[in-house]
Amino acid sequence: ICSIVMIIVLQMEPYNIVGVAMINGMMIVLSRMLFETQVSSHTMKQKVKRMEKVSEEDPLTKMLNRRGLEHQLKVLWGAAVRNKHIVGIIMMDIDNFKKYNDTFGHPQGDKCLQSVAEAIKRSASRSSDIAARVGGEEFMVFISEANSDLEPIRLADKIRKSVESMKIPHSPLVANPYVTISVGVEYMVPTENDTFEALYDAADKALYYAKHNGRNCIVCGNRIYS
Ligand code: GH3
Ligand code: MG
Ligand code: MG
Repeated sequence: ICSIVMIIVLQMEPYNIVGVAMINGMMIVLSRMLFETQVSSHTMKQKVKRMEKVSEEDPLTKMLNRRGLEHQLKVLWGAAVRNKHIVGIIMMDIDNFKKYNDTFGHPQGDKCLQSVAEAIKRSASRSSDIAARVGGEEFMVFISEANSDLEPIRLADKIRKSVESMKIPHSPLVANPYVTISVGVEYMVPTENDTFEALYDAADKALYYAKHNGRNCIVCGNRIYS
């Protein structure tokens, strides 16, 4: 097509077809090079994306790690402020987990962490719920768009019950026969002056009170749910 166009538009003599063919050849080589450059830049972008995913994921539980959580929050917190959404934090910590490790060993402890993480993921399955492993045996769910004030408590209760109902045998050194979690919950409709960190600290404080209240329970504000 290109040869015909050049002959017609540039009024080239047919005997110049060899030149035209050479120019065509060069264009094919150039477009091939351009195509290969695009392919390698696409592959490079995919590799960078894969590396980003790995650096934001906890390898043991396949949940987001702190870095991954912070990445997601950059978008979600701003959106919640703009849209006046209720946001909630559910902080969770496995009860007496040190004794679990001491009794069953670290590899078994890792399996227990995976089971608890799965229970959390199953319960917090809405796309607006972000689950993350934020410490050794500490997990968090960030609800970026709750439908009501009650939703964070309801979800916390669902997760607590779901972990307990797995009936993972705990160490005989612990009063409760099965693995349980303590939970701290806090929620708010954030404004420009609010920060995720302040909400996180409040939920962490609630978790501390849940531990002091005998564990395997939920604290939100000045209320205890068990
Ligand atoms: P509490 O009910 O007060 O939370 O008591 P706890 O024993 O769970 O808390 P503590 O902070 O004393 O112990 C946490 C334990 O979690 C100690 C540590 O060995 C264990 N741990 C942290 N990260 C991992 C991990 O990746 N794998 C395993 N198997 N254990 C872990
Ligand atoms: Mg802990
Ligand atoms: Mg613990």
